[in-house]
Amino acid sequence: MSTSEIDPVAQSEQELQIEGALRPGRLDEFIGQEKVRNQLKLLRDAARLENRSPDHILLAGPPGLGKTTLAMIVAEETSSPLRVSSGPAIQHAGDLAAVLSSLTPGEVLFIDEIHRMARPAEEMLYLAMEDFRIDIMVGKGPGATTVPLELAPFTLVGATTRSGLLPNPLRDRFGFTANLEFYSSEELTEVVRRSAAVLDVDAEANALEEIAGRSRGTPRIANRLLRRVRDYSLVHGGTATLDNARAALELYDVDAWGLDRLDRQVLEVLISRFGGGPVGLGTLSVSVGEEAETIESVVEPFLVRQGFIIRSPRGRIATPLAWKHLGREEPTLDDL
Ligand code: ADP
Repeated sequence: MSTSEIDPVAQSEQELQIEGALRPGRLDEFIGQEKVRNQLKLLRDAARLENRSPDHILLAGPPGLGKTTLAMIVAEETSSPLRVSSGPAIQHAGDLAAVLSSLTPGEVLFIDEIHRMARPAEEMLYLAMEDFRIDIMVGKGPGATTVPLELAPFTLVGATTRSGLLPNPLRDRFGFTANLEFYSSEELTEVVRRSAAVLDVDAEANALEEIAGRSRGTPRIANRLLRRVRDYSLVHGGTATLDNARAALELYDVDAWGLDRLDRQVLEVLISRFGGGPVGLGTLSVSVGEEAETIESVVEPFLVRQGFIIRSPRGRIATPLAWKHLGREEPTLDDL
Protein backbone atom coordinates (compact mmCIF):
# COMPACT_ATOMS: atom_id res chain seq x y z
CA MET A 1 0.00 0.00 0.00
CA SER A 2 1.38 3.42 -0.88
CA THR A 3 1.55 5.99 1.88
CA SER A 4 -0.88 8.19 -0.03
CA GLU A 5 -3.64 5.68 0.60
CA ILE A 6 -3.32 5.84 4.34
CA ASP A 7 -1.98 9.30 4.84
CA PRO A 8 -4.12 12.11 3.47
CA VAL A 9 -1.09 14.40 3.72
CA ALA A 10 1.08 12.46 1.27
CA GLN A 11 0.03 12.96 -2.34
CA SER A 12 1.39 12.12 -5.75
CA GLU A 13 1.95 14.77 -8.43
CA GLN A 14 -1.06 13.54 -10.41
CA GLU A 15 -3.29 13.63 -7.36
CA LEU A 16 -2.23 17.18 -6.65
CA GLN A 17 -3.22 18.15 -10.19
CA ILE A 18 -6.65 16.58 -9.93
CA GLU A 19 -7.08 18.13 -6.51
CA GLY A 20 -6.34 21.53 -8.00
CA ALA A 21 -8.99 20.99 -10.66
CA LEU A 22 -11.55 20.09 -8.00
CA ARG A 23 -10.97 23.11 -5.76
CA PRO A 24 -13.90 25.49 -5.49
CA GLY A 25 -12.73 28.97 -6.48
CA ARG A 26 -15.16 31.21 -4.57
CA LEU A 27 -16.69 31.26 -1.11
CA ASP A 28 -20.15 30.58 -2.53
CA GLU A 29 -18.93 27.36 -4.17
CA PHE A 30 -17.29 26.19 -0.94
CA ILE A 31 -19.54 23.53 0.59
CA GLY A 32 -20.27 23.32 4.34
CA GLN A 33 -18.32 25.10 7.15
CA GLU A 34 -21.07 27.68 7.19
CA LYS A 35 -19.79 29.53 10.22
CA VAL A 36 -16.28 29.88 8.81
CA ARG A 37 -17.68 30.99 5.46
CA ASN A 38 -19.74 33.71 7.12
CA GLN A 39 -16.75 34.85 9.17
CA LEU A 40 -14.61 35.07 6.04
CA LYS A 41 -17.33 36.96 4.14
CA LEU A 42 -17.48 39.54 6.89
CA LEU A 43 -13.72 39.90 6.90
CA ARG A 44 -13.71 40.33 3.13
CA ASP A 45 -16.54 42.87 3.09
CA ALA A 46 -15.09 44.98 5.93
CA ALA A 47 -11.69 45.04 4.20
CA ARG A 48 -13.32 46.07 0.93
CA LEU A 49 -15.24 48.92 2.58
CA GLU A 50 -12.09 50.29 4.14
CA ASN A 51 -9.94 49.50 1.13
CA ARG A 52 -7.32 47.59 3.12
CA SER A 53 -6.01 44.03 3.42
CA PRO A 54 -8.11 41.65 5.53
CA ASP A 55 -6.84 40.66 8.99
CA HIS A 56 -4.51 37.69 9.37
CA ILE A 57 -6.36 34.37 9.45
CA LEU A 58 -5.47 31.07 11.11
CA LEU A 59 -7.12 27.94 9.71
CA ALA A 60 -6.99 24.94 12.02
CA GLY A 61 -8.16 21.38 11.50
CA PRO A 62 -7.22 17.89 10.31
CA PRO A 63 -5.76 17.42 6.79
CA GLY A 64 -8.04 17.51 3.77
CA LEU A 65 -10.81 19.71 5.20
CA GLY A 66 -10.19 22.69 2.91
CA LYS A 67 -7.53 24.92 4.51
CA THR A 68 -5.47 25.40 1.32
CA THR A 69 -8.65 25.87 -0.68
CA LEU A 70 -9.84 28.59 1.69
CA ALA A 71 -6.48 30.39 1.51
CA MET A 72 -6.79 30.45 -2.28
CA ILE A 73 -10.36 31.67 -2.00
CA VAL A 74 -9.31 34.52 0.32
CA ALA A 75 -6.85 35.69 -2.35
CA GLU A 76 -9.42 35.28 -5.12
CA GLU A 77 -12.19 37.05 -3.21
CA THR A 78 -9.95 40.00 -2.42
CA SER A 79 -8.48 40.05 -5.96
CA SER A 80 -5.01 39.68 -4.45
CA PRO A 81 -2.01 37.69 -5.60
CA LEU A 82 -1.21 34.59 -3.53
CA ARG A 83 2.19 33.47 -2.28
CA VAL A 84 2.44 29.91 -0.99
CA SER A 85 4.99 28.66 1.52
CA SER A 86 5.09 26.16 4.35
CA GLY A 87 6.50 25.82 7.85
CA PRO A 88 9.04 23.11 6.96
CA ALA A 89 10.40 25.33 4.14
CA ILE A 90 11.12 28.15 6.60
CA GLN A 91 13.98 26.86 8.70
CA HIS A 92 15.88 30.14 9.14
CA ALA A 93 14.78 33.68 9.79
CA GLY A 94 16.48 34.56 6.47
CA ASP A 95 14.10 32.25 4.56
CA LEU A 96 11.17 34.18 5.95
CA ALA A 97 12.81 37.57 5.43
CA ALA A 98 13.28 36.73 1.74
CA VAL A 99 9.58 35.88 1.35
CA LEU A 100 8.28 38.83 3.37
CA SER A 101 10.46 41.46 1.74
CA SER A 102 9.33 40.45 -1.74
CA LEU A 103 5.58 40.64 -1.04
CA THR A 104 3.60 43.18 -3.06
CA PRO A 105 0.98 45.40 -1.35
CA GLY A 106 -2.14 43.42 -0.41
CA GLU A 107 -0.60 40.03 -1.23
CA VAL A 108 -1.97 36.99 0.59
CA LEU A 109 0.80 34.87 2.11
CA PHE A 110 -0.27 31.30 2.81
CA ILE A 111 1.95 29.36 5.21
CA ASP A 112 0.84 25.74 5.43
CA GLU A 113 1.83 23.70 8.51
CA ILE A 114 2.80 26.93 10.21
CA HIS A 115 3.44 25.07 13.50
CA ARG A 116 6.55 23.56 11.89
CA MET A 117 8.30 26.87 11.25
CA ALA A 118 11.65 27.43 13.00
CA ARG A 119 11.54 29.47 16.21
CA PRO A 120 13.71 32.47 15.06
CA ALA A 121 11.50 32.84 11.96
CA GLU A 122 8.43 32.71 14.17
CA GLU A 123 9.73 35.64 16.19
CA MET A 124 10.39 37.63 13.04
CA LEU A 125 6.84 36.93 11.97
CA TYR A 126 5.38 38.54 15.13
CA LEU A 127 6.71 41.95 14.19
CA ALA A 128 5.86 41.50 10.52
CA MET A 129 2.24 40.63 11.33
CA GLU A 130 1.81 43.48 13.77
CA ASP A 131 3.72 46.38 12.24
CA PHE A 132 4.52 45.21 8.68
CA ARG A 133 8.16 45.59 9.54
CA ILE A 134 11.10 43.27 10.21
CA ASP A 135 14.49 43.83 11.74
CA ILE A 136 17.35 42.62 9.58
CA MET A 137 20.59 41.67 11.33
CA VAL A 138 23.63 43.29 9.72
CA GLY A 139 27.13 42.11 10.58
CA LYS A 140 28.28 39.64 13.20
CA GLY A 141 29.65 39.73 16.74
CA PRO A 142 29.80 42.89 18.89
CA GLY A 143 29.50 45.20 15.87
CA ALA A 144 26.25 43.63 14.67
CA THR A 145 23.24 45.93 14.39
CA THR A 146 19.67 45.57 13.25
CA VAL A 147 18.22 47.58 10.41
CA PRO A 148 14.45 47.94 10.23
CA LEU A 149 12.85 47.07 6.91
CA GLU A 150 9.35 48.26 6.03
CA LEU A 151 7.10 45.63 4.41
CA ALA A 152 4.12 46.00 2.11
CA PRO A 153 0.87 45.38 4.01
CA PHE A 154 -0.14 41.74 3.51
CA THR A 155 -2.60 39.18 4.83
CA LEU A 156 -1.14 36.08 6.41
CA VAL A 157 -3.22 32.93 6.16
CA GLY A 158 -1.69 30.26 8.37
CA ALA A 159 -2.85 26.64 8.32
CA THR A 160 -2.19 24.07 10.99
CA THR A 161 -3.28 20.56 11.82
CA ARG A 162 -1.94 21.07 15.34
CA SER A 163 -3.14 24.40 16.68
CA GLY A 164 -2.15 23.24 20.18
CA LEU A 165 1.50 23.44 19.13
CA LEU A 166 1.34 27.11 18.17
CA PRO A 167 2.87 29.45 20.74
CA ASN A 168 0.36 31.88 22.20
CA PRO A 169 2.11 35.05 20.96
CA LEU A 170 1.73 33.77 17.40
CA ARG A 171 -1.85 32.65 17.85
CA ASP A 172 -2.78 36.00 19.38
CA ARG A 173 -1.58 37.90 16.33
CA PHE A 174 -4.20 36.38 14.05
CA GLY A 175 -7.37 38.44 13.64
CA PHE A 176 -9.31 35.25 13.97
CA THR A 177 -8.97 31.48 14.02
CA ALA A 178 -11.29 29.33 11.98
CA ASN A 179 -11.59 25.81 13.35
CA LEU A 180 -12.63 23.55 10.50
CA GLU A 181 -14.95 20.70 11.46
CA PHE A 182 -15.42 17.30 9.84
CA TYR A 183 -18.16 17.43 7.18
CA SER A 184 -21.56 15.75 7.47
CA SER A 185 -22.53 12.99 5.02
CA GLU A 186 -24.96 15.38 3.34
CA GLU A 187 -22.23 17.96 2.78
CA LEU A 188 -19.84 15.33 1.47
CA THR A 189 -22.53 14.07 -0.89
CA GLU A 190 -22.63 17.56 -2.32
CA VAL A 191 -18.83 17.59 -2.59
CA VAL A 192 -18.71 14.29 -4.52
CA ARG A 193 -21.69 15.30 -6.68
CA ARG A 194 -19.84 18.44 -7.68
CA SER A 195 -16.58 16.55 -8.24
CA ALA A 196 -18.35 13.84 -10.31
CA ALA A 197 -19.70 16.60 -12.55
CA VAL A 198 -16.27 18.24 -12.92
CA LEU A 199 -14.56 14.90 -13.67
CA ASP A 200 -17.43 13.76 -15.90
CA VAL A 201 -18.11 10.60 -13.87
CA ASP A 202 -21.36 8.81 -14.66
CA ALA A 203 -22.57 8.01 -11.12
CA GLU A 204 -25.92 7.09 -9.58
CA ALA A 205 -27.14 9.20 -6.66
CA ASN A 206 -26.96 6.37 -4.11
CA ALA A 207 -23.40 5.56 -5.16
CA LEU A 208 -22.41 9.15 -4.40
CA GLU A 209 -24.12 8.92 -1.00
CA GLU A 210 -22.28 5.69 -0.26
CA ILE A 211 -18.91 7.31 -1.05
CA ALA A 212 -19.77 10.36 1.06
CA GLY A 213 -20.81 8.23 4.03
CA ARG A 214 -17.47 6.42 4.03
CA SER A 215 -15.15 9.39 3.60
CA ARG A 216 -14.14 10.09 7.23
CA GLY A 217 -15.89 13.46 7.10
CA THR A 218 -13.11 14.69 4.76
CA PRO A 219 -13.55 16.17 1.25
CA ARG A 220 -10.06 15.09 0.13
CA ILE A 221 -10.88 11.47 0.97
CA ALA A 222 -14.33 11.78 -0.67
CA ASN A 223 -12.70 12.97 -3.90
CA ARG A 224 -10.09 10.21 -3.74
CA LEU A 225 -12.69 7.50 -3.17
CA LEU A 226 -14.76 8.89 -6.02
CA ARG A 227 -11.80 8.33 -8.34
CA ARG A 228 -11.35 4.76 -7.09
CA VAL A 229 -15.05 4.05 -7.63
CA ARG A 230 -14.83 5.58 -11.09
CA ASP A 231 -11.88 3.29 -11.95
CA TYR A 232 -13.74 0.24 -10.68
CA SER A 233 -16.89 1.19 -12.56
CA LEU A 234 -15.01 1.79 -15.81
CA VAL A 235 -13.74 -1.77 -15.67
CA HIS A 236 -17.12 -3.19 -14.60
CA GLY A 237 -19.62 -1.73 -17.02
CA GLY A 238 -19.24 2.05 -16.97
CA THR A 239 -21.79 3.49 -14.57
CA ALA A 240 -20.90 4.00 -10.90
CA THR A 241 -23.77 2.08 -9.32
CA LEU A 242 -24.24 1.43 -5.61
CA ASP A 243 -22.93 -2.12 -6.06
CA ASN A 244 -19.84 -0.92 -7.89
CA ALA A 245 -19.21 1.71 -5.21
CA ARG A 246 -19.47 -0.85 -2.41
CA ALA A 247 -17.22 -3.34 -4.19
CA ALA A 248 -14.58 -0.69 -4.92
CA LEU A 249 -14.58 0.63 -1.36
CA GLU A 250 -14.21 -2.89 -0.02
CA LEU A 251 -11.30 -3.48 -2.38
CA TYR A 252 -9.60 -0.39 -0.96
CA ASP A 253 -10.16 -1.44 2.66
CA VAL A 254 -12.65 1.28 3.54
CA ASP A 255 -15.28 -0.12 5.87
CA ALA A 256 -18.93 0.87 6.35
CA TRP A 257 -17.98 3.54 8.91
CA GLY A 258 -15.34 4.94 6.60
CA LEU A 259 -12.49 3.64 8.73
CA ASP A 260 -9.41 2.76 6.68
CA ARG A 261 -6.73 0.22 7.39
CA LEU A 262 -4.69 2.48 9.67
CA ASP A 263 -7.75 3.48 11.72
CA ARG A 264 -8.63 -0.16 12.26
CA GLN A 265 -5.03 -1.05 13.02
CA VAL A 266 -4.98 1.52 15.82
CA LEU A 267 -8.19 0.11 17.29
CA GLU A 268 -6.93 -3.45 16.88
CA VAL A 269 -3.67 -2.70 18.74
CA LEU A 270 -5.51 -0.83 21.46
CA ILE A 271 -7.90 -3.70 22.03
CA SER A 272 -5.93 -6.87 21.28
CA ARG A 273 -2.59 -5.87 22.68
CA PHE A 274 -3.52 -3.51 25.48
CA GLY A 275 -6.96 -4.72 26.56
CA GLY A 276 -8.57 -1.46 25.44
CA GLY A 277 -6.05 0.91 27.07
CA PRO A 278 -5.18 3.41 28.37
CA VAL A 279 -2.18 3.49 26.04
CA GLY A 280 0.19 6.41 25.52
CA LEU A 281 0.60 7.94 22.07
CA GLY A 282 4.28 6.87 21.78
CA THR A 283 3.51 3.21 22.50
CA LEU A 284 0.57 3.28 20.12
CA SER A 285 2.58 4.78 17.28
CA VAL A 286 5.45 2.29 17.69
CA SER A 287 2.97 -0.59 17.78
CA VAL A 288 1.32 0.36 14.49
CA GLY A 289 4.60 1.52 12.91
CA GLU A 290 3.39 5.02 12.11
CA GLU A 291 4.61 8.49 13.11
CA ALA A 292 3.10 9.82 16.33
CA GLU A 293 2.19 13.03 14.49
CA THR A 294 0.17 11.13 11.88
CA ILE A 295 -1.67 9.22 14.59
CA GLU A 296 -2.39 12.42 16.48
CA SER A 297 -3.38 14.71 13.63
CA VAL A 298 -4.88 12.28 11.11
CA VAL A 299 -6.16 9.14 12.83
CA GLU A 300 -7.24 10.28 16.29
CA PRO A 301 -9.43 13.29 15.54
CA PHE A 302 -11.81 11.16 13.50
CA LEU A 303 -11.82 8.17 15.88
CA VAL A 304 -12.51 10.51 18.80
CA ARG A 305 -15.22 12.36 16.97
CA GLN A 306 -16.95 9.08 15.96
CA GLY A 307 -16.77 7.86 19.55
CA PHE A 308 -14.33 4.97 18.99
CA ILE A 309 -11.68 6.19 21.39
CA ILE A 310 -11.37 8.71 24.17
CA ARG A 311 -8.27 10.61 25.19
CA SER A 312 -7.58 10.54 28.89
CA PRO A 313 -4.63 11.97 30.80
CA ARG A 314 -3.28 8.41 31.10
CA GLY A 315 -3.60 7.62 27.40
CA ARG A 316 -6.03 6.50 24.72
CA ILE A 317 -8.92 4.22 25.65
CA ALA A 318 -11.10 2.13 23.31
CA THR A 319 -14.83 2.71 23.85
CA PRO A 320 -17.47 -0.07 23.80
CA LEU A 321 -18.28 1.05 20.23
CA ALA A 322 -14.70 0.20 19.19
CA TRP A 323 -14.95 -3.29 20.71
CA LYS A 324 -18.25 -3.82 18.93
CA HIS A 325 -16.87 -2.51 15.65
CA LEU A 326 -14.08 -5.08 15.69
CA GLY A 327 -16.60 -7.78 16.64
CA ARG A 328 -15.02 -8.31 20.04
CA GLU A 329 -16.47 -8.77 23.51
CA GLU A 330 -15.35 -6.17 26.00
CA PRO A 331 -14.14 -7.94 29.18
CA THR A 332 -16.45 -7.45 32.15
CA LEU A 333 -15.37 -7.21 35.77
CA ASP A 334 -16.09 -10.95 36.12
CA ASP A 335 -13.45 -11.75 33.49
CA LEU A 336 -10.73 -9.93 35.38
P1 ADP B 1 -6.21 20.99 3.49
O1 ADP B 1 -5.40 22.17 3.03
O2 ADP B 1 -7.06 21.30 4.70
O3 ADP B 1 -5.41 19.75 3.68
P2 ADP B 1 -7.41 21.20 0.86
O4 ADP B 1 -7.87 22.60 0.84
O5 ADP B 1 -6.17 20.87 0.09
O6 ADP B 1 -7.30 20.66 2.35
O7 ADP B 1 -8.64 20.31 0.29
C1 ADP B 1 -8.46 19.00 -0.18
C2 ADP B 1 -9.39 18.70 -1.34
O8 ADP B 1 -10.73 18.72 -0.87
C3 ADP B 1 -9.33 19.74 -2.48
O9 ADP B 1 -9.34 19.04 -3.72
C4 ADP B 1 -10.58 20.53 -2.37
O10 ADP B 1 -11.09 20.79 -3.62
C5 ADP B 1 -11.53 19.61 -1.64
N1 ADP B 1 -12.36 20.39 -0.72
C6 ADP B 1 -12.01 20.77 0.53
N2 ADP B 1 -13.01 21.45 1.12
C7 ADP B 1 -14.01 21.53 0.21
C8 ADP B 1 -15.31 22.11 0.24
N3 ADP B 1 -15.77 22.72 1.32
N4 ADP B 1 -16.07 22.00 -0.86
C9 ADP B 1 -15.61 21.33 -1.94
N5 ADP B 1 -14.40 20.75 -2.03
C10 ADP B 1 -13.59 20.84 -0.97
